[in-house]
Amino acid sequence: MADRTGHAVVVGAGLSGLLTAQVLARRFARVTVIERDTVTGEAGAFRAGVPQARHVHIFWSRGLAAMDALLPGTVAELEAAGASLVGAPEEMRWLSPAEWFTGVTGASYLSVSRELLEATLRHRVLDGSPSITLLDRHEVTGLVAADGTEAVTGVRFRERGEVGQEATLDAELVVVAAGRSSRPAQWLTQLGRPAPAVERIDAHLGYSSRYFRRPDTGTGWKAMYLQGNAELPRGGVMNPIDGGRWLVTLIGQGAHQPPVEEKAWWAYAASLRSDELARALADAEPLSDPVAFRATANEWTHFERADRPPRGFLVVGDALCRFNPVYGHGMSVAATQAQEIARQLSTLGAAQFAARSGEIQRAVAQRARGAWAIATGEDRCYPDVEGPTPGLLTRLQQGYMGRVLATSNTDPLVAEALFAVLSLNRRPESLLSPRIMSRTTRRRNGSGSSNSKRL
Ligand SMILES: Cc1cc2nc3c(=O)[nH]c(=O)nc-3n(C[C@H](O)[C@H](O)[C@H](O)COP(=O)(O)OP(=O)(O)OC[C@H]3O[C@@H](n4cnc5c(N)ncnc54)[C@H](O)[C@@H]3O)c2cc1C
Repeated sequence: MADRTGHAVVVGAGLSGLLTAQVLARRFARVTVIERDTVTGEAGAFRAGVPQARHVHIFWSRGLAAMDALLPGTVAELEAAGASLVGAPEEMRWLSPAEWFTGVTGASYLSVSRELLEATLRHRVLDGSPSITLLDRHEVTGLVAADGTEAVTGVRFRERGEVGQEATLDAELVVVAAGRSSRPAQWLTQLGRPAPAVERIDAHLGYSSRYFRRPDTGTGWKAMYLQGNAELPRGGVMNPIDGGRWLVTLIGQGAHQPPVEEKAWWAYAASLRSDELARALADAEPLSDPVAFRATANEWTHFERADRPPRGFLVVGDALCRFNPVYGHGMSVAATQAQEIARQLSTLGAAQFAARSGEIQRAVAQRARGAWAIATGEDRCYPDVEGPTPGLLTRLQQGYMGRVLATSNTDPLVAEALFAVLSLNRRPESLLSPRIMSRTTRRRNGSGSSNSKRL
């Protein structure tokens, strides 16, 4: 295209980095994606830069639609390679904090290994956009600025393992998509810029996960989710993934952290609110030892609130805002942020986009709002949560959500409304419509209202 100009650097070749690079290549003449891990060569291998890959990942329908709008046909390709679309809750055994979902339909999600998802995205993005270069085994160590600190004009980086051998790469735009462990705020302060405000809410959830070979015999359901509640904050989720496998994650809150030792793992699986998961696994062959993940806090670094944001700088995905993973929203938010960048680029050239990156940062951050409200609204009601104490309004919302959840277990209309929110297709406020409120408050026992802490 004649109007492609300039160079953009994307830090990180995870889900967010790949989708963002694909979109930027529509307007920038060159896009360089710098990735710390080795990602070329062996397709679909586990890598250290994405440790969460070993734990259950569900990709809700809103995020899938965003990804497929950017890269048409991706979902079909993933399904052909063994990923499963799951109707939630109708194709599942799903025990909510109140009771089993029965006779209701909701939304859908894709269950897929992170390895297959990323390998598919990598080949689609890189094969489809020759102007994108992937520089793997290289790590970005900081930013370069010109004009005082008014504009970011590149990155400092080095080959992995080559301590001291730093080089710089100039760019009109730098997008940080380096995930939950990255610290782009520090890179900004190293340039002499003020540190952005950080909001953090930690409900202290822990995961312990392992793979099983999926038995040939049909189960009548595709996936299982046993949620914990206030009385027993222990849960378990079991999803079909590519390679004829189940990925099974045990989830616990506070003192109920799920173990990784073999015997203790099985004992924990048998101690959930139902023994269905343990029974389903009894004859399944484990393919791996359990591994743990504990850093599940919600954390939003508010780059979008900067008074005078530097030009040519954007932060996306988990590097901007990460969520307690139990709600399954991070990938969907990342995909909708890439869609927002595409929307902005539909009217802006590369130079204008870089010049207005502060404004665009606000629009991108906006895409995290719904998922943030869901995750933090729920998490703030745990007794030992770290973060601001919930006010009366939050507590009222929580009580109401408990009633919505309990009603949705058997009421098709409320279930449709709830899953539209959980899948990010509708805003959380939509649950306050008179139609939903009247059906929800009509329920006399209010079962679940004090039990709604979800795992
Ligand atoms: C246990 C767990 C379970 C989850 N379950 C779900 C789920 O069910 N559904 C869902 O939607 N989301 C889930 N998430 C969230 C999801 O994993 C993230 O939202 C998603 O991976 C974000 O993508 P990203 O590209 O921003 O970051 P990542 O996927 O983490 O990718 C970041 C990339 O940047 C690279 N990198 C880091 N630093 C540098 C550097 N300095 N230089 C170069 N490269 C660098 C890394 O190697 C990595 O490749 C879960 C998260 C966790 C922790």
